[in-house]
Amino acid sequence: MVEAIHRSTRIEFSKSSLAYNVQYTKQVSGAKTLWLAVKSNAYGHGLLQVSKIARECGVDGLAVSVLDEGIAIRQAGIDDFILILGPIDVKYAPIASKYHFLTTVSSLDWLKSADKILGKEKLSVNLAVDTGMNRIGVRSKKDLKDEIEFLQEHSDHFSYDGIFTHFASSDNPDDHYFQRQKNRWYELIDGLIMPRYVHVMNSGAAMYHSKELPGCNSIARVGTVVYGVEPSEGVLGPIDKLKPVFELKSALTFVKKIPAGEGISYGSKFVTSRDTWIGTLPIGYGDGWLAEYQDFQLLIDGQKCRQVGQIAMDQMMVALPHEYPIGTEVTLIGKSGKYENTLYDLHKHSGVPPWKITVAFSDRLKRMVVD
Ligand SMILES: *Cc1c(COP(=O)(O)O)cnc(C)c1O
Repeated sequence: MVEAIHRSTRIEFSKSSLAYNVQYTKQVSGAKTLWLAVKSNAYGHGLLQVSKIARECGVDGLAVSVLDEGIAIRQAGIDDFILILGPIDVKYAPIASKYHFLTTVSSLDWLKSADKILGKEKLSVNLAVDTGMNRIGVRSKKDLKDEIEFLQEHSDHFSYDGIFTHFASSDNPDDHYFQRQKNRWYELIDGLIMPRYVHVMNSGAAMYHSKELPGCNSIARVGTVVYGVEPSEGVLGPIDKLKPVFELKSALTFVKKIPAGEGISYGSKFVTSRDTWIGTLPIGYGDGWLAEYQDFQLLIDGQKCRQVGQIAMDQMMVALPHEYPIGTEVTLIGKSGKYENTLYDLHKHSGVPPWKITVAFSDRLKRMVVD
């Protein structure tokens, strides 16, 4: 998709806030190593933009979901450690080895097929263990043992570097399912040979459960917290310890006074009750500013101004207290004067969770690093 660089609408990304969140996460979890999930366009913040600054921010490795995300990072000249979190079709095993990805594997059959097609370059293997997410990975000790034995017997093609599990509810005040998964994890790995990377902590586990994970808490494999979002939304931890990593801003492209009785935008659902100054903004659901955000209070010149009328694909309207010049800055998410719009505010308004808000930002939005 085309990035709209000749348009005021932009995401201003803060490197210093990302670095702060990395340090905070390491401090709270005690993890020495932090791998940042940059899958799905770095949760909407920009895959390459975030990957390029990650190391300077104290990130020790990157985690992506699909092979192509990893390849895009390599092609941008970044040689950082990369973990592929999702399963890949075995026919691509040679590509994963060529790019030196730590590659997630869920079955012995996969390893057997890969063994037939891998060449001189060894594949770095990360074994997925299913303790209750029921998405990928082996479920029994026997299966895990068989995989480990196979890797050892075929060390010409494989290096057994990683093992992990993924928690389905690590950010819930009711932690019974977490405890069940944790106990299952320790049962499954008991007595087996562990590789150098044993990693089980996602954001919730890193924030609230690291002390309950002895021997398995030196690596945090996280996204949400580093992007400034407290995963329990303040229930299990303070909401203001992490820093927001971006502001979303735009500027008025058109300003006019309209009389009472006029409908605004598609469907004419919002009708003016008196003379009203209306500003137009160059952002819409085509940029990932979803229809659910209708009527959110935007910030202009340190004042709250209600967005009015249906959000269109590329534009939307805002009610102004008085006339403003074209080009006036509008803050959709971020600070303006004494007010701040956070992802939580938008979540409360719309019901859309913070990570879904950012991941919906489309490629058309211009992204820039500002500090
Ligand atoms: C996305 C993902 C993560 C990161 O999760 P957060 O909750 O955002 O920290 C970790 N592990 C796996 C397997 C994932 O898919």
